[in-house]
Amino acid sequence: MAVKAGFIYVLIHPSDERLIKVGMTSRSPEVRLEEHNTQFDKAAGRVVEATGEDWILKEFFAVEDTYNAESAFFRRSPLTETPYALSDELLKLDDKFLNWDWVNEGLRLAKSVGVRRDTSQPPIPKPPPKRGGKWIEASLKESGLRPVKGYGNGITKVAFECPQRHVFKISGSCLARFPFCPICEPERFDSYTLRRVETCESK
Ligand SMILES: [Zn+2]
Repeated sequence: MAVKAGFIYVLIHPSDERLIKVGMTSRSPEVRLEEHNTQFDKAAGRVVEATGEDWILKEFFAVEDTYNAESAFFRRSPLTETPYALSDELLKLDDKFLNWDWVNEGLRLAKSVGVRRDTSQPPIPKPPPKRGGKWIEASLKESGLRPVKGYGNGITKVAFECPQRHVFKISGSCLARFPFCPICEPERFDSYTLRRVETCESK
């Protein structure tokens, strides 16, 4: 896989100060921004469509190897322990793990990592989805929620069941931040996350 120089960029969205996107491009960040703001079939574009507000390019940096930079940024805790953390390629910051210090540390790593040693091998760009990570287990422990096996395709969202037997699908990273049943306690969620929860018929 060829080494491509390019840029790492950070987008912020005016609808939600915790919602960001970190991406890489071998083209110009401005061109990529325009795509994110107009491709309504992609996760970033769906936010634009839903809110009527465009993403803003907060900052960008040149990198020598976009794949390696991407890997350096994303292959870090807690993403590596969170199932489906990047299923929609957007990041929702929180006060615990995914905060701006964490973002800035990742940017420093991405900027300094250089060209990957073995350029014949593609780097693993993002953590693979993983069930049962310690981080999410800890988040779920208190909640009484449990994952429902064999419900849905499990690729983008996982189904969970609450003690009242409500079944709902939500990405693992959302659930780790909002370890609550959206039917019993909708007020615990922000409206953006709540809109993305799918509720299912109880089994
Ligand atoms: Zn419930």
